[in-house]
Amino acid sequence: MQAHSDEMRRLGKKIVFVPTMGFLHEGHLSLMREGLRHGDYLVVSIFVNPAQFAPGEDLDSYPRSLERDLDLVEKENAGAVFTPRDSELYPGGFQTYVSLEHLPLHLCGISRPTFFRGVATVVSKLFNIVKPHIAVFGEKDFQQLLIIRRMVRDMNFDINIVNAPIIREPDGLAMSSRNAYLTKAQRPAALSLYKSLLSAKELVQNKIIDAARIIDESKKIINSHMETEIDYINVCDPQTLDDLPVIDRTALMALAVRVGKTRLIDNMLLTP
Ligand code: AMP
Repeated sequence: MQAHSDEMRRLGKKIVFVPTMGFLHEGHLSLMREGLRHGDYLVVSIFVNPAQFAPGEDLDSYPRSLERDLDLVEKENAGAVFTPRDSELYPGGFQTYVSLEHLPLHLCGISRPTFFRGVATVVSKLFNIVKPHIAVFGEKDFQQLLIIRRMVRDMNFDINIVNAPIIREPDGLAMSSRNAYLTKAQRPAALSLYKSLLSAKELVQNKIIDAARIIDESKKIINSHMETEIDYINVCDPQTLDDLPVIDRTALMALAVRVGKTRLIDNMLLTP
């Protein structure tokens, strides 16, 4: 892959990279399309990264569909797909990790304390392997996007990070490979994440800017469904992720909710 990227660079190509864990959906494809607006040689990686799963999480059951994914990526005009084996990225003796000090101490990092270390490590490795000029990340994983941007600045990666908006199902559910775990009966519960964000947006539009009250409303919406268990609902600064008690400027509302065994996340920017 490194030799191939060197060759593409020598030919004057602008390499744009979309890292994924596969089981591709329209959200992933939108990143690829956005990428090709910024560069002219698209590389997609498909790798379910063991380093970002804690023991007991869904590493083994994570949905996989390589053949179908390869078809989809080809249709998006990718130049190359990188699908390393676990043992290629993490050979015996592997012991170097990338971790950030502050941003992972919020939101998803609280219930998944080693998650962002796994993400930052694999993304660094993939950047060094794929050697892209540009890399695209989705706002669906807002905290991840901030962490990658911070890491790129802190570590002087010579890569432009581009973000792409959340793609949703027609009913509003944010697309996710993990939606495949949901049963039909769990769907309304899954949709309550988006509904609670919409309700928050409406409250802010009606000049209700007290974060605690907004979070309370969201909790009510989500808890009215069977099988939901809230991990967190936060209203915070979209750069630092520190809590914002009052929405007197643009705030990020982010939440993680378990629906049955499936952990779902979603977010929205709220502007007063
Ligand atoms: P994943 O395969 O879940 O690791 O996601 C790979 C990339 O796709 C990440 O940058 C995600 O933020 C992005 N992504 C996942 N779901 C969506 C979505 N519904 N809309 C936009 N981007 C997404």
